[in-house]
Amino acid sequence: MSTKQKNFVSATRCGVLLLLSEHLTREGVPHGFTSRTHGFGARYRGERDREQLSRALNLPRLAYMKQVHGRSIRTIHGNEPVPECDGVTTKERDLGLIVHSADCVPLLFWASDVNAVAAVHAGWRGTLARVAVEAVSSLGGRPDKIHVAIGPSIRACCFEVGDEVVEAFHASGRELKRILREGLRGRRHVDLITDNCDQLVACGIPEAQIYDSGRCTVCENDRFYSYRREGKGVGRLMGVIAVK
Ligand SMILES: [Zn+2]
Repeated sequence: MSTKQKNFVSATRCGVLLLLSEHLTREGVPHGFTSRTHGFGARYRGERDREQLSRALNLPRLAYMKQVHGRSIRTIHGNEPVPECDGVTTKERDLGLIVHSADCVPLLFWASDVNAVAAVHAGWRGTLARVAVEAVSSLGGRPDKIHVAIGPSIRACCFEVGDEVVEAFHASGRELKRILREGLRGRRHVDLITDNCDQLVACGIPEAQIYDSGRCTVCENDRFYSYRREGKGVGRLMGVIAVK
């Protein structure tokens, strides 16, 4: 399956620049991905940026994870603290679920039949561990009613990896020719987007319901934060979604 760039638009909400899936927007699902030029100012400010995002999307409550590159998904109720995990789901209204990333793949899920949402963090370790599959089963409902938006992340063009990463994907049973790309310098690159899409399709989600922003955080480092480019202290892109 090729990863197509499908129908994303930029829009400003209360001064915050957001990248939006046209489909989720049409369906009335509050969501979006921020960027470094998001209207918050020159620097990433953590809590203050989240407050501004909360106003922009009119979501009084936001929940975000302490992400640990694993595969556990937690269901969020009320204001209880969010445990360490890499995916959160909820059916509660007015509660925005946030995933933070700077190269890792941010995934936003909407299960239309049960009106549940999930925000998921899939770096190479989470992708390898199939965190997206865990999210699909945690959402409940029918997989063919799930819609997924894939935000800006490091892509096959830039995700050069060492042998240990290739070996880990190989050992997990992946067909390497599906996800490996030859880089310019003869080094191997991994396509995390294709691997995540393959996982989602294998769960029963129609390919046409997977909306990929097609944006690379390294190629477009002027617009998006990249850990690989900028190292420690880099800001974070926020993906957010809530039930309608
Ligand atoms: Zn790139």
